[in-house]
Amino acid sequence: MMETNPYASPLTSTDAPRLSPNDRGAWRQGNLLVVSHDATFPDRCVKCNAPVDGRRMRLQLSYYPPIVAIGIFLGPIPLLLMAWLARKDMTVNVGVCDDHRQRRRDGRSRVFLGVAISVLLIFVGVVVRSAGGLAILFGLIVLVGTWMYGRRAMRIVWPKRIDKRFAWLQGVSPEFLAELPEVT
Ligand SMILES: [Zn+2]
Repeated sequence: MMETNPYASPLTSTDAPRLSPNDRGAWRQGNLLVVSHDATFPDRCVKCNAPVDGRRMRLQLSYYPPIVAIGIFLGPIPLLLMAWLARKDMTVNVGVCDDHRQRRRDGRSRVFLGVAISVLLIFVGVVVRSAGGLAILFGLIVLVGTWMYGRRAMRIVWPKRIDKRFAWLQGVSPEFLAELPEVT
């Protein structure tokens, strides 16, 4: 897996055409995949560029603009209200190969296992008085670890930004991006 280098110069060259509001389709912008809301994705796996023969995975993506973070200082109700108002959604049908589908299923199985173990530990902690605190603590640690693992293992692509017309998606393979026209 490629690590993103925050200090790397942008991959987008300055002579590429600018994205205009009425454009429809899929493009690359640096290491991001840009798609319009009605875009048809190329018939290739977004994670490795292997052919997918028309098979698609439907993903519901949600994006919260950074301004929502201000709500943290205003309390839970304003935070929820701001998040609800500012949230942008987009449904995409992306090509995902059998190998990457299997990896996602394996990830889901491990998440189920992690949740089951943590529930069991917390249950034991509640029932067995003598070692209760320790079992509950371990249960919570396993639960947090499972959540952090699941966040990484389950996602295919995730939005850096979504607006009314386009989504800018991360997690796409460089080979997949290389075959798309570039925009700035
Ligand atoms: Zn793949």
